[in-house]
Amino acid sequence: MNLKVTRGQIMARGLANRCPNCGARSLFKEGTLFEVNPACGECGLKIERDEGGFLGALSLNYGVTLIVFVLPVMLLAIFGAFSFRTASIVGGIGAIGFPALLYRSSRSWWLMNYYLVLPRHLPANLPPVAKGEDENI
Ligand SMILES: [Zn+2]
Repeated sequence: MNLKVTRGQIMARGLANRCPNCGARSLFKEGTLFEVNPACGECGLKIERDEGGFLGALSLNYGVTLIVFVLPVMLLAIFGAFSFRTASIVGGIGAIGFPALLYRSSRSWWLMNYYLVLPRHLPANLPPVAKGEDENI
């Protein structure tokens, strides 16, 4: 069975911080930087899931910060591009600032990962419910 929302669309929407189900810019409360909407205002997809959703995004954010920011700073210090003192200062500031910059994306990426693995869990991809049938099949 073909998917109404493909994995490519799920990935594009996830990278653009949009709802994976309908593509609306509804993951975060309007006018806030870090407050996640409990559900999409357009299609009703549950965005704020259990605590595992937050921990997954946190882990993803931590991993990306380590690999993309802290590791290169450490390697540059080891190979003499700048002093360890400078590396400590830059790494310390970056270890706090980089996750804050990545916060919105990490929440969106985690949601995207879930639906990339299980695209049929997306409400738009559920089969239509026939008359007399319920969704618990
Ligand atoms: Zn939506």
